[in-house]
Amino acid sequence: MSESEDHAALRKLARDVAERDIAPFAAGWDETEEFAEASLEALRRADLFTVTVAEEFGGMGMGDVEAAIVLEEIARADVSSAILCQLVFNGPPRAIEHLGNETMRRNWLPKAAAGELFCIGITEPDAGSAATTMRAHLVPDGDGWRLEAYKNYVTGGHRAVACLVWCRFPGSEAGTGKGIGAVLVDLAADGVSVAGTHRKMGLRGCTEAELAFDGVRVAPEDVLVAGDPADNSGLKTLLAHINHERCGNAAMCLGAAQGALEYAIAYMQERTVGTKKLAELQGLQWKIADMAVELEGARLLLDRALQLAGPGGTPPPLESAMAKIACNLAAKKVCDEAIQLLGGYGYSREYPVERAYRDIRGLSIGAGTVEIQRNFVGTSLLAGKVPAGPWWKAPRR
Ligand SMILES: Cc1cc2nc3c(=O)[nH]c(=O)nc-3n(C[C@H](O)[C@H](O)[C@H](O)COP(=O)(O)OP(=O)(O)OC[C@H]3O[C@@H](n4cnc5c(N)ncnc54)[C@H](O)[C@@H]3O)c2cc1C
Repeated sequence: MSESEDHAALRKLARDVAERDIAPFAAGWDETEEFAEASLEALRRADLFTVTVAEEFGGMGMGDVEAAIVLEEIARADVSSAILCQLVFNGPPRAIEHLGNETMRRNWLPKAAAGELFCIGITEPDAGSAATTMRAHLVPDGDGWRLEAYKNYVTGGHRAVACLVWCRFPGSEAGTGKGIGAVLVDLAADGVSVAGTHRKMGLRGCTEAELAFDGVRVAPEDVLVAGDPADNSGLKTLLAHINHERCGNAAMCLGAAQGALEYAIAYMQERTVGTKKLAELQGLQWKIADMAVELEGARLLLDRALQLAGPGGTPPPLESAMAKIACNLAAKKVCDEAIQLLGGYGYSREYPVERAYRDIRGLSIGAGTVEIQRNFVGTSLLAGKVPAGPWWKAPRR
């Protein structure tokens, strides 16, 4: 299968940036838990943040396929750096473009194209997978509201210019999805503070923050999706949009695992054990075969979800969930086996495969855990939904 000329050129641009400006420094950012500032600058210089932003706001106006190409190539070198792109491609800016009002689009999208970071605040200390138990809420204030919220695990929250905060609108019933919507908050506003940052196993070049919102003013034009206390339509709209993020997450898994697989293959051709190269041992050749089959299978599932999104569309939920599960699990297996193939060196922080493993491990939790995706896929199939393709017919009820 070949790529179009435009896609191949975009892949080459991203790969060049990744190999020249990111790969040599990624282990250092991981070691020191330093935010990948130089990576941010390199991505800006290469105009890579413009990929998904509409042309009228300074972007290239491309879609999920192109976003995935860049994410894959940057993650092949460093997942923390790819996440910077993910925050712009598949985070709040994409939601603003599709769902936001004109003022919001004019205010924020040129900033996204220029490589300012955006973050998303859904999770709270007592509300993760069960987002409907969130407490964040708006209190009426004149023609607008005041936001009271405490969000944790906000990727890039300490460094972003704005946060899309999922919250309850007045009249919302606690413990249900009714009345949940989302507002965009300028992180320089009064009442916003970074309460802390998480210390993590991987993705150490890209921090997750705890953000407190104490009576932060929210104007009517800051509302991305209004929550109607009578139903959960706002939450449904927001969840549908998360499919962009799920596909981007899957693309980063593919990229990191691809990098680990290629590294293991090169290593096996160099490393001699006794009288033989590792590459000559059939048991290890089979490992490479299994890793590649798993990775390529996951790639095809992601490709289907991306193609179904089409230009300007949103990837469909069932196919996106299937792709995320497959890519998360394939990456876990491939990176784990890459460590094994390098033996003791694989376990050493002087070689890159253990970092890839630690990084992708977090991607099986973010953007909806593997278990939550499985719940969705299982219940969807049992309810008669089928993934796109000529092979399935709806099960008999
Ligand atoms: C690297 C990383 C980046 C993140 N970035 C963001 C971000 O930018 N913004 C944000 O809002 N959040 C972010 N998160 C938070 C993430 O979305 C949550 O961690 C995730 O939704 C799980 O919630 P939880 O941690 O509270 O786990 P819990 O909900 O407490 O779940 C614990 C375990 O139980 C399983 N589980 C829960 N419910 C069910 C069920 N019904 N059936 C089967 N299993 C279930 C889960 O899969 C998990 O394995 C990030 C997390 C990570 C690790």
